[in-house]
Amino acid sequence: MFDLSGKAALVTGGSRGLGRAISMAFAQQGADVAVNYRGNASAADEVVAAIRELGHEAISIQGDTAGGREACEAIVKAAIDQFGKVDILVNNAGITRDNLLMRMDEAEWDDVIATNLSGPFWMCRAIARPMLKAKSGRIINMSSVAGRMGNAGQVNYASAKAGLIGLTKTVARELASRGITANAIAPGLIQTELTADLPDAARQFVLDSTPLGYIGSVEDVAAAAVYLASDEARYVTGQVLGIDGGMMMGG
Ligand code: NAD
Repeated sequence: MFDLSGKAALVTGGSRGLGRAISMAFAQQGADVAVNYRGNASAADEVVAAIRELGHEAISIQGDTAGGREACEAIVKAAIDQFGKVDILVNNAGITRDNLLMRMDEAEWDDVIATNLSGPFWMCRAIARPMLKAKSGRIINMSSVAGRMGNAGQVNYASAKAGLIGLTKTVARELASRGITANAIAPGLIQTELTADLPDAARQFVLDSTPLGYIGSVEDVAAAAVYLASDEARYVTGQVLGIDGGMMMGG
């Protein structure tokens, strides 16, 4: 089950956190992986080395997914130049710039929209043609429970992550006839560097609203990505898969 042998994956922001765990899980299931990173070349190279240890191909690709059309096209091109194809795209790169509505400045809003929404848009735009030609593909967008429920102090982040769900469903509809699926994962609170500095009160609030009562691990999210990337998930598209300990029980 969930064998990814022979598949080529591209994971944005793959050098740490969820992106790293997803890259490693894909490789463990047999995939070759292109690990995109923005600044930390040595962390990306470490992931590449770990994947090669497993006996699979890997490259790191420097590129800023918030850099617009050309930057995203260059990332996709580098992956295709290496592997000849990209079967699986994971739009994982994301940032937070938290502030209350009344205090949020233009840069905080713009940076989060550029990274968390425009980045995935341009990556989907760049990958669509090769996937359409191949008549197959898997697009996985990393949304968040904040995009489904809203979150005080995260108007920029929640807006971008909600927008990403709309993007996912639209891409799913537009590309479905060619065997391409697009789905979103909506994690709750997962232990990574992104969430390491969360104040204790906020952490407790999340725990209190999580029926399973604990914070998730990167492996919990990576397992969902493996499933959505697999042939077994061929009949699943336009969905939002919550990996959140039950925080959001959506219909
Ligand atoms: P993280 O900060 O550990 O990792 C994010 C990675 O994305 C970093 O390596 C960062 O350098 C990279 N990145 C950021 N901007 C980039 C850009 N413009 N171009 C290329 N790379 C860029 O965070 P994480 O916790 O692993 O989060 C990964 C994704 O999951 C994000 O989209 C985040 O919003 C989402 N998410 C995380 C949680 C959580 O609790 N950790 C919950 C819900 C959603």
